[in-house]
Amino acid sequence: MPETILVVEDELSLQETLAYNLQKQGYSVETTGNGRKALETARQLKPDLILLDIMLPGLNGIEVCKILRRERFQAPIIMLTARDDEIDRVVGLEIGADDYLTKPFSMRELIARVKAQLRRTLVIREELEKLQIDPDRSPPSTSERIFGNLTINETRREITINGQALPIKPQEYDLLVFFSEHIGQMLTREFILERVWGWDYIGDTRTVDVHVRWLRLKIEHDAANPKRIVTVRGGGYRFEG
Ligand code: CA
Repeated sequence: MPETILVVEDELSLQETLAYNLQKQGYSVETTGNGRKALETARQLKPDLILLDIMLPGLNGIEVCKILRRERFQAPIIMLTARDDEIDRVVGLEIGADDYLTKPFSMRELIARVKAQLRRTLVIREELEKLQIDPDRSPPSTSERIFGNLTINETRREITINGQALPIKPQEYDLLVFFSEHIGQMLTREFILERVWGWDYIGDTRTVDVHVRWLRLKIEHDAANPKRIVTVRGGGYRFEG
């Protein structure tokens, strides 16, 4: 079945150009030029990706994006912005978009971004299947997880080594908890980024490497020779406990 893309653009000539080029790539395309209509269509159609203009009649693209994310709509959303200054708002407000394109953009660029986002979704879906995780359900959490001299206390959001609480940043804590929920499993950087930082995070997988490095300094006996968070060559990381 072809992947479905919802194109939300009120400028009709651009809407048609987008639809034509995406259909040529084999995608199934739905179009609308109204923000409220976009919301309805997204809910019913559950598209695999949304191209979302910001300045729209009815409801603007930023509102549409925020509402969909609140409703746990998970497919990628690429914002189309008319002016450079809107980018700051898209990024700054952390509205939950995955990418943006500033008008005018080339169709080649657009198709490349669309493919990249759909590929990313596929990778994540495959990983979820491998781990047999229901994306809408978090694994059950106990208040305390113990790994040798390392303890994660989820009630207090605290990490201790030999009973001593460690100074830890929220993202490091979340990353360690995520690792501890998947002990012994290879986790790719992309998957970790997706699950720990979430859809609204704009960044790349080096973020994961940086945080792993910081975590190792705190929880490993010898950070240069890690035994807890091991690097899987060409893959990602594995938490050994
Ligand atoms: Ca517009």
